[in-house]
Amino acid sequence: MSKKYWESRSAQRELESQLIASKYLARMDESLREAQHDILKQIETFYARYAAENQVTLAEARKYLTAKELKDFKNIDLKRFREMSMSGNPEYDRILNAASYRVRISRLEALNLTIEMRMAELYGGSKGLQQYTYTGLADIYQGSYYQTMFDMAKQGVVTGPVQALTDKTMEEVLSYNWSGKEFSKRIWGHQEATRKAIRKELERSFAAGRSIQKTTKAIMEVTDVARSRVEALVRTEANFFHNAASQKSYEDAGIDRYEILATLDSRTSDICRKQDGKIYNEKDYKPGESAPPFHVRCRTTTIPYFHESEYMQYEKRQSTNGLIDSMTYKEWFDKYVK
Ligand SMILES: [Zn+2]
Repeated sequence: MSKKYWESRSAQRELESQLIASKYLARMDESLREAQHDILKQIETFYARYAAENQVTLAEARKYLTAKELKDFKNIDLKRFREMSMSGNPEYDRILNAASYRVRISRLEALNLTIEMRMAELYGGSKGLQQYTYTGLADIYQGSYYQTMFDMAKQGVVTGPVQALTDKTMEEVLSYNWSGKEFSKRIWGHQEATRKAIRKELERSFAAGRSIQKTTKAIMEVTDVARSRVEALVRTEANFFHNAASQKSYEDAGIDRYEILATLDSRTSDICRKQDGKIYNEKDYKPGESAPPFHVRCRTTTIPYFHESEYMQYEKRQSTNGLIDSMTYKEWFDKYVK
C-alpha cells in the first residue's frame, strides 16, 4: 500500500461521484427545460388573448378576469393543481390559498399564479428537482462510502464485515446542514427567487410595452439563471456528500487523520492549491475550513493519512488477506456488507 495508491483512488472516486451527479443533472435539466417551455407558452397564450399590436399594456394586464374567465381559471388550473401530488408541500398550500378564495383576480395575477403552479411542480413534484437532488445525493453518499470501504478492504486497512447504511442514517446524513441551510431549503430558495424574478420581469415587460419576443427572451434569461444555479448547487453538494461519505469510512476504519488532495490543473482555485497536502485530525473536520468543499463547485477531496509504520502493518495484513485483493467490488459487497 502506498500514498500514490490513495491519491489515484481518491481522485477517481471524486470523479465517479461527479459522474453520478451528471446523470441526475441531465434529468433535472430536462425537467427545467420542459417547465421553461410551458411557462413561455403560457405567456404566449396571454399575449394572444390580450395583446393589441404585439403589446399588452400594464393597464390591460391589470384588468380583472371576467366572471367566466375566473370560473374557468378555478375549474381548470386550480383543479389540476389540486389533483397533482398533494404531498403536504407548504408551497402548494400557499399558492392554492392565494388563489382559491379570491373573488377577483387580475389577468396578470392569474398568469403569475399559473406560472407559480408550474414552478411548484418543477421543484416540489414527485419528479421535482428537490426529489432528484435528494435521490442523487443519497446515491453519491452510499456509493462513495462503500467504494472507499472496498478500497480499504483491498489494502488490508479494513477486515471483516461492514455495517450497511440504514435508511435512518441516510435521512440524518441528508438533512445535515453544513453551509447555513440544508440543501432542500436552498432549492426552495431558488424556486422563490425565480418566481419573484419572473413576476418582476413580466411587470417590466407590460410597463415598457415590450413585444412578445422581447418578453419571452427576458423570461428565458431568468429561467436560464435558475438552471445554472441548480447545477452549481448539485455539483457543490455532490462534492460535500462524497467527502462526508469518505470521512465516515475513515472514521469507521479507525483512521484519525486525513490529507487534502486537490486536483491540480488550470481550473484549481487558489484556496485549494493552498490546502493541497495539508493534514488534519478527523475531529477537526469542518467543510469550508479544514475539508472540502472549500467553495462553490469545488473538486477537492481527501485521502486517509497513515504513519509509515501503519503502511507496513497493513501490507503484512494484506498479504495474508490475498483473497480480498482479487475480489471484485460486487463480490466484496455481497460477502462483507451486512
Ligand atoms: Zn476547490
